[in-house]
Amino acid sequence: MSAFTPSIKSIEYPFPAKPLPLSDIEKEQSKERIKHLLKERNAVLVAHYYTDPEIQALAEETGGCVSDSLEMARFGRDHPAKTLIVAGVKFMGETSKILSPEKTVLMPTLDATCSLDIGCPVEAFTEFCDAHPDHTVVVYANTSAAVKARADWVVTSSIALEIVEHLDSQDKKIIWGPDRHLGSYIAKETGADMLMWQGECIVHDEFKAKALIELKKLHPNAAVLVHPESPASVVELADVVGSTSQLIKAAHTMDNDMFIVATDRGIFYKMQQAAPNKILVEAPTGGNGGTCKSCAHCPWMAMNGLKAIESALESAGQQHEIFVDETLRLDALKPLNRMLDFAKTLNMNVKGNA
Ligand code: SF4
Repeated sequence: MSAFTPSIKSIEYPFPAKPLPLSDIEKEQSKERIKHLLKERNAVLVAHYYTDPEIQALAEETGGCVSDSLEMARFGRDHPAKTLIVAGVKFMGETSKILSPEKTVLMPTLDATCSLDIGCPVEAFTEFCDAHPDHTVVVYANTSAAVKARADWVVTSSIALEIVEHLDSQDKKIIWGPDRHLGSYIAKETGADMLMWQGECIVHDEFKAKALIELKKLHPNAAVLVHPESPASVVELADVVGSTSQLIKAAHTMDNDMFIVATDRGIFYKMQQAAPNKILVEAPTGGNGGTCKSCAHCPWMAMNGLKAIESALESAGQQHEIFVDETLRLDALKPLNRMLDFAKTLNMNVKGNA
């Protein structure tokens, strides 16, 4: 590990408070108000797979989309609406702004962040990269616009293997950031020379292999679906390792009637739609060594409540709007476009950050 890499165990995450619960009547009133404001403001709601089911349902009901961050950004770019309401975390709003600079990008709360983003501050990451100038810098989509701008490539989990393989075939040495588990998985699969930033997703890092082995014994016919941000010991137990979209597809296409799922439980909404007759079970986060900081649900994603969306649409302004400096935006767009152009050569649709 480089001297520039922070000790992730020393990071104090600013865990947010969950939105106050609403009564059924309050929820309905809020949804009606949001529907009205979306029309009035010429806005569309795009939600991430990990937001709460009622937010995903509202995005679908109002003609928005539910997807991963890159697809959310592409949907927003191609939609005629002038304003995008991004229900997700801050780097997702930034990615939307990078692809749609002419649109107003609002977030329910700008305090919704991500442990991967927090754990990879641009100053320290730049110092790390500058100390290894002979390395190609590959960063995961779950990073700030500033970190993307420092990178040669941005990747999602669905195309990371192909891009790293491509770079390895050219004998490139790679700096990978920020997710150490995803990076280790890719290094193991490709054999590439990768120098890792030591970030982690606090949700996926909580999955526990020993408890998963016990759960598998109880459900021997269940297939185990694992997102590669999970620890290697959990990935080793998987029947399918893949991005959010790849895991949803697996639940649909595999013959098993039960799945144990190691990713944020928000994904169950779309997974159950894709596989309506199948049983979905959360992979364990407790058991031996369990601290359950997240209990398989991202605390920042959970900040995207109805009232926060309403507030974004009503008041917009500095508390909700995403701004990305134009020079920075253009610098961040280059490694993003490099990935998209590479995907075209593979005839691949790129989906699949966290
Ligand atoms: S689930 Fe993990 S990777 Fe996704 S936003 Fe939350 S902390 Fe970040």
